[in-house]
Amino acid sequence: MPIGPRSQIGPLVTKRISHWIDGKPWTAPDSRTARVTDPATGQVTGEVELASAVQVGEAVEVADRAFTTWRSSSLSTRSRVLFSFRELLNERKEELAAIITAEHGKVLSDALGEVGRGLEVVEFACGIPHLMKGGFSSSVSTGVDAYSLRQPLGVIGIISPFNFPAMVPMWFFPLAIATGNTVVFKPSEKDPSAAVWLAELWAEAGLPPGVFNVVHGDKEAVDALLEHPRVKAVSFVGSTPVAQYVYEKGTSHGKRVQALGGAKNHMVVLPDADLDLAADAAVNAGFGSAGERCMAISAVVAVGDIADQLVDKVRTRMAGLRTGDGRRGCDMGPLITQAHRDKVASYLDAGVEAGAQLVVDGRSVEADADGDGFWLGPSLFDHVQTGMSIYTDEIFGPVLSVLRVPTYEAALQVVNDNPYGNGTAVFTNDGGAARRYQQEVEVGMVGINVPIPVPMAYYSFGGWKASLFGDTHAHGTEGVHFFTRGKVVTARWLDPSHGGVDLGFPRNA
Ligand code: NAD
Repeated sequence: MPIGPRSQIGPLVTKRISHWIDGKPWTAPDSRTARVTDPATGQVTGEVELASAVQVGEAVEVADRAFTTWRSSSLSTRSRVLFSFRELLNERKEELAAIITAEHGKVLSDALGEVGRGLEVVEFACGIPHLMKGGFSSSVSTGVDAYSLRQPLGVIGIISPFNFPAMVPMWFFPLAIATGNTVVFKPSEKDPSAAVWLAELWAEAGLPPGVFNVVHGDKEAVDALLEHPRVKAVSFVGSTPVAQYVYEKGTSHGKRVQALGGAKNHMVVLPDADLDLAADAAVNAGFGSAGERCMAISAVVAVGDIADQLVDKVRTRMAGLRTGDGRRGCDMGPLITQAHRDKVASYLDAGVEAGAQLVVDGRSVEADADGDGFWLGPSLFDHVQTGMSIYTDEIFGPVLSVLRVPTYEAALQVVNDNPYGNGTAVFTNDGGAARRYQQEVEVGMVGINVPIPVPMAYYSFGGWKASLFGDTHAHGTEGVHFFTRGKVVTARWLDPSHGGVDLGFPRNA
């Protein structure tokens, strides 16, 4: 049921975060809720409603109704709304970045970077008239023409993780909407406010009500989306076990699913690399966003006899990092929850017990912050072996491991034997070696002297192996294809040469 402005509740809680359906806030007063916390202070800042299957059904029905008109809106209408959304988002990106920092904890500059990368996908989607062009063949047979169309699917479910509350959904919804679909978006319940802010912005940009809807929730809402017959496709991003579950359940209910999962990203440093560049990159990609990035580097593979020097350079740089409240100009913020912070910290004991050398222990960090945030400073392990849990598990925190290997071949084997295949980087000054790595590595996104090779919006984002379930990567032309179905028309207009009954298979003449 729709409501007016958000209500204030309880002494601990400052705001109630409702769903957004049919162009307005939508609440179910008796629904389950979850607390939303500012990870830098530990304070509860909100309470988010968790949708039941009934509320998900309401959102899907609204989106399905909106589809009947949005699907036939002209390409220029759609691109005008997208341009308007782009302008508003660009003008007000600082506002969104502040919301992200307040609920996720990443530092403001990083939050702004996330919004910027999302904006690029909106800009790409502004070119939808060109992206939706089909092919045309004149006179494929005498008096017959053939052409292809791409048409939208219907209601799209988008389910996103906590670590990029704006960018990850923006990998999907600009193109889903631009191609003529309608959306029911379920953000992470840990940092849900960005989703509602984005929904308000769509309304301001002139998107008709019901085209973009937000339902908050947890597994119950996800299951309801996966089971609903009017949801035609699902774009999911999250951990690998959940991605696999979503893929299997969604496809068993007849949906098109792309489910992007977890990662273990390796940075291979060859003996001829510029070690200062490599050390900068390892620190930036290992500890940016407190290691809570699917493209974070968590394993540095040092080839040959450079390891001592490289570890030393990384340690020196780590000593200069400032951990603290993301609103205070620090380098690194807190982890998302106390439970996640404790889990990540437990790997420091596990690594030591397994025999790795703990070079920097982040547990002693003094964070520049007030209150009781979820702090763990950057940590570094050396002499890590592939059987250790600090290597096999996706830690998703500020813990960087160095593995030492003798040769390029051994490094390649480490990377290719790993079950994940999201991103990787090679650092070298040898073009031939870089090219060989790019050809031989079994990973979806490869950086050459670039530690976080997140593709531009006009390419597609996605990993291999346990990092992606489904066939289609996010955004770029693969995104356009994911949200549309192809149709080929063969047409003959009135022509006196049409010639009588013929039961044979169509031939071209
Ligand atoms: P998560 O898997 O816990 O949650 C992701 C989404 O799934 C959330 O919306 C959540 O509410 C929902 N969910 C959680 N448990 C569920 C369950 N049992 N059944 C159905 N739905 C469920 O992930 P997270 O902790 O929010 O995010 C971190 C993970 O996401 C990491 O593994 C990271 O690598 C991955 N990630 C991957 C990419 C990528 O592009 N491959 C990008 C960002 C994050």
